[in-house]
Amino acid sequence: MKVSVLGSTGSIGTQALEVVDDLKGIKDIEVVAISGNSNISLLEEQIRKYKPEYAAVSDKSSADKLRIAVADTECKVLSGQEGLCHIAAESGADMVLSSIVGFAGLVPTICAIEAGCDIALANKETLVTAGKLFMDAIAEKGVRLLPVDSEHCAIFQSLHGGKPKELSKILLTASGGPFFGRTRDELVGVKKEQALKHPNWSMGAKITIDSATLMNKGLEVLEARWLFDVDIDDIEVVVQRESIIHSMVEFCDKSVIAQLSLPSMKHPIQYAFTYPDRLPSKDDRVSFADIAKLTFAKPDEDTFRCLALAKKAGKMGGIMPTVMNAANEVAVAKFLRDEIEFLEIAEIVEKTMDSYKAEKNVSIEQIAEIDKEVRQSIERGN
Ligand code: NAD
Ligand code: MG
Repeated sequence: MKVSVLGSTGSIGTQALEVVDDLKGIKDIEVVAISGNSNISLLEEQIRKYKPEYAAVSDKSSADKLRIAVADTECKVLSGQEGLCHIAAESGADMVLSSIVGFAGLVPTICAIEAGCDIALANKETLVTAGKLFMDAIAEKGVRLLPVDSEHCAIFQSLHGGKPKELSKILLTASGGPFFGRTRDELVGVKKEQALKHPNWSMGAKITIDSATLMNKGLEVLEARWLFDVDIDDIEVVVQRESIIHSMVEFCDKSVIAQLSLPSMKHPIQYAFTYPDRLPSKDDRVSFADIAKLTFAKPDEDTFRCLALAKKAGKMGGIMPTVMNAANEVAVAKFLRDEIEFLEIAEIVEKTMDSYKAEKNVSIEQIAEIDKEVRQSIERGN
């Protein structure tokens, strides 16, 4: 199988390349293209190790530097969104791993679908902002869409326990993040260093902050809504503190089927690469005796407003999820630059959503325009 890894320098991308190493000798996987933003030394290392035919770098001057660094290899270095779309659609990949963070992943992922590639989807923001267009394109092209988000991979696996018409609820698990159990007062003045300390997972900065605000769970509700074609009200978020149960499904006979494993993103990545087969994994096994107990709770949507806001945007539909997502991306970036307080992330998302109407039936071009408009307006401080 030929794989193109969009976002190969990130948390998911680097783990995906480790999975390729782990599968050596049991599954033939060739990495035909990789991409990154500006981490040139890591891209160079990856080019020398995996020998992809293409590498794409979004930033043009970084692409020039990489071109010089790997001039002695066969790798062609491309740049900008065009370059990303090229390695998504024209690198000869059978499967494209979409693991760029944020809205920037949308257009290259759509290009990959249109070129008939199977998609292993880590980038949840694409489904959140363009869910209908995305799923229509998947259906039209008849390509496979394999969820890499751990919860959605768990739901996908659990759904094998019954027929689609027998499904009654999706139970989407959440760790609760680093601030679980805190009141609003206890969140005043929290620093990014605290928000970046996730109890169970080591991930990129943006998703780690999203996990602390519970926006990550909100995005995942919308992701599940599109992936599994269910109503938002049929998706129940359950806090599962230890991140051992990665999600569950409840069928009409009240039977609940779950997927359990230690918290490792290598599991869903490997499952996407080997589906429909299961192959041996280098991950540790779950030792229930050592874990001793699993803890559950209800999420606190009054304190962690982002979860409620994402659901609201999903129910309103149209452009509202795009507005919500863009506002969140900018607010998180501002928090990471120490420009705003933690609690202001939800405030910015809410205020921005309030200033838009949920227009329906938008094209990808209109979604991109709205995304840009929202970003500019928040950056200007409107
Ligand atoms: P990350 O920040 O570690 O990596 C992001 C990757 O995207 C890097 O390769 C970076 O170079 C590239 N990138 C960033 N901005 C770009 C731009 N404007 N244009 C092109 N490339 C750009 O992020 P991550 O944690 O690996 O997350 C990637 C995606 O996977 C996110 O959508 C996240 O929500 C999702 N996800 C991540 C995890 C996890 O454990 N990290 C789990 C589930 C889902
Ligand atoms: Mg997840």
